[in-house]
Amino acid sequence: MKVLIADNAEDTKSVLGGILLGKDYECVFVENNADIIEKVYTEVPDIVILDTKPAGPSGLEILKKLKSAPSTRDIPVVLIASKKSQSKLAKGYELGAYDYISRPYFKEELTARLSNITFACERVKELEKLLDRDYLTGIYNRRFFMERFHEELSWSSRHSEPISLMMLDIDHFKKINDTYGHGCGDEILKQIANTMTAVLRIEDVVARYGGEEFIILLPNTDSEGVLTAAEKLRAAVHDKDFSCENGSTRIQVTVSIGVTAYAPDNECIYLPPDRVIGQADTALYTAKEQGRNRVVAHKQ
Ligand code: GH3
Ligand code: MG
Ligand code: MG
Repeated sequence: MKVLIADNAEDTKSVLGGILLGKDYECVFVENNADIIEKVYTEVPDIVILDTKPAGPSGLEILKKLKSAPSTRDIPVVLIASKKSQSKLAKGYELGAYDYISRPYFKEELTARLSNITFACERVKELEKLLDRDYLTGIYNRRFFMERFHEELSWSSRHSEPISLMMLDIDHFKKINDTYGHGCGDEILKQIANTMTAVLRIEDVVARYGGEEFIILLPNTDSEGVLTAAEKLRAAVHDKDFSCENGSTRIQVTVSIGVTAYAPDNECIYLPPDRVIGQADTALYTAKEQGRNRVVAHKQ
């Protein structure tokens, strides 16, 4: 457990640090308040302890910044404040502070508070994971995907960066279920999901759209790039030996993929997510019509 302590008062460093180090917390001290934000980004602490009245930018200003940035807003912040500073504490809670501590520091109270905070934060992370993921394959679910897709489309429109989308459907999947059983079908779905995450880039967002249909968002990727990635994925699935029942049954699986690219430079408009998905879906339908096991691009 890493705690970033942003307070240069000597008693905080020696007393608070001493208590936490004795309880096996890893402590990172920041002397200068102007450096806190950068330190939080580089150290990625589990908890930040922040003094409300330091020199330089105020603790509450720093708290506001930490709580507004997507990558730091979930880090719990504990304020160091006097019990008497009611209005400052109220403001701190309003801005998203998790708790506060005040002098004199008591070892048992401090460690119990920090362990409560980490327990609660870990539960929240577990719940968020359950909300965002597909229970069978472990990749993102449709709900998470749609949220992210909205954000990425808006970002790419604003920054004039291309963005692409793939819709992938397993060919004759019903036949696989009918021949080898539903359990084997589920196993194939997991193996397809693993292949997708292995073949595609870490920044590509791979999700289960429904049944045996998958959707993939490729940030900063143009029409040429998405075709290359889709063809790589199609070939990887085609060349892979899928298996069920502890590896005893070898199964050939193929997929059809419809792709579309959105280049805000040319269109200069914000395209609604449903329209982009519709384009990839139509291309997927064409891929099925043309004989499956192929990639088809939407005609701009
Ligand atoms: P096509 O090549 O035209 O896509 O043929 P298909 O048989 O794959 O047709 P379709 O895409 O309509 O098939 C959907 C099948 O996917 C039917 C359903 O039994 C199966 N399926 C959907 N969800 C699941 C699942 O969670 N587990 C399993 N095992 N099968 C599923
Ligand atoms: Mg389907
Ligand atoms: Mg299918």
